Amino acid sequence: MTDVVIIGGGVIGLAIAKVVSQSGFETIVLEKNDRAGDDTSSRNSGVIHAGLYYPEDYLKTSLCIEGNKLLYKYAIDKNINHKKYGKCIIASSDFEIAKLENILKQAKRNNVEIYEADISKVKEDNPGLIFKKALFSPSSGVIDVPEYVTALEGDIQHYGGLVSLNTSFLNAEKENGQFRINCESDQKFSISSKFLINCSGLNSEDNLSSIKGIQKKDIYKNYYAKGHYFKYSGKTPFSNLIYPIADQHSLGIHVGFDLAGGMRFGPDIEFVDKIDYSFDENLKDKFLKSINQYWPEINPDKLHPDYTGIRPKITKPNETMQDFSIQTKKQHGLDRFINLQGIESPGLTSSLAIGKYVNNLLTQGEK
Ligand SMILES: Cc1cc2nc3c(=O)[nH]c(=O)nc-3n(C[C@H](O)[C@H](O)[C@H](O)COP(=O)(O)OP(=O)(O)OC[C@H]3O[C@@H](n4cnc5c(N)ncnc54)[C@H](O)[C@@H]3O)c2cc1C
Repeated sequence: MTDVVIIGGGVIGLAIAKVVSQSGFETIVLEKNDRAGDDTSSRNSGVIHAGLYYPEDYLKTSLCIEGNKLLYKYAIDKNINHKKYGKCIIASSDFEIAKLENILKQAKRNNVEIYEADISKVKEDNPGLIFKKALFSPSSGVIDVPEYVTALEGDIQHYGGLVSLNTSFLNAEKENGQFRINCESDQKFSISSKFLINCSGLNSEDNLSSIKGIQKKDIYKNYYAKGHYFKYSGKTPFSNLIYPIADQHSLGIHVGFDLAGGMRFGPDIEFVDKIDYSFDENLKDKFLKSINQYWPEINPDKLHPDYTGIRPKITKPNETMQDFSIQTKKQHGLDRFINLQGIESPGLTSSLAIGKYVNNLLTQGEK
């Protein structure tokens, strides 16, 4: 018997568990893997975004802007490795300059700090970079995700919660006003809980089909959009994160860093049918073509396959980008059940703000 059961120990489930256990709810996180944060949460760019791109009335905007501040503060408080590199968004053609101006307008509507970059300063800080015009976002940076996951796990434990690893959610139904939740670790067992929260990322639709009382028509279908990263074995000439112009479904093949100073490029985007993290090395030419547009000095021999990640989309390839979906009984009809879907980028950045948002839903009687 507990207050809250959370399906999924990625950064979203852990951040929710941290906030709700801190506010007094007894909380259990179910995680099927032997480590927390091993799926999408550790297969991303690790970028702390500023909240530039999305419409001002989107949760993606408000939660990213709040999450950015909360994450930097948390990283400082917990001594988590991170760095505010700042981000240059670059336009390489007149067509892209028009798009850059739209990004600037949207970022200003979102009240995010951004400005037109001084071209000579960007070139000085990022030698070899070719572009016509650039914007600079000072509050973008990178965080060490495994350290963030460990800090969240420590806090959950500190506030009396539990992250149950190697534990799969099987199914759930309401019984006398409580959820009866069936799980499996080395053996099958069940838990009773006042609240149930689904934040199982790429598996969210499958898990929803095992919750009695949820209608298929009220939830989103999951689509998978795979992205590859190549690492660069040479020394980076860049001081900032470098982003070309975003397209409809991704932020483009950008320059990112790990916190040891290594440089990587990616992710690309391709919609796929199943969760499969294999690496397609044939994509190297596509990457080189894209990178060459802004960094012709790249040495192809130093570009090597790194890893892949899969975006948990709730839109098809030809549809426009959707907001994060955080559903309560208003949308799906089931009291005390909160369902998160489509938590793609900027989910990592937004995670602590999502935790606060969900905690407010619980404390205000789940509107
Ligand atoms: C290529 C890529 C790049 C990205 N870059 C960034 C970025 O730079 N900045 C940013 O802010 N965001 C970024 N994101 C988005 C960010 O990574 C995600 O929003 C975030 O990691 C989602 O976390 P999650 O906890 O919802 O999902 P996950 O990390 O996938 O966690 C879900 C968990 O649920 C568990 N689970 C599933 N089914 C069950 C079950 N039946 N029982 C028990 N456990 C179960 C899984 O094992 C998994 O650990 C990126 C995403 C991708 C794919």
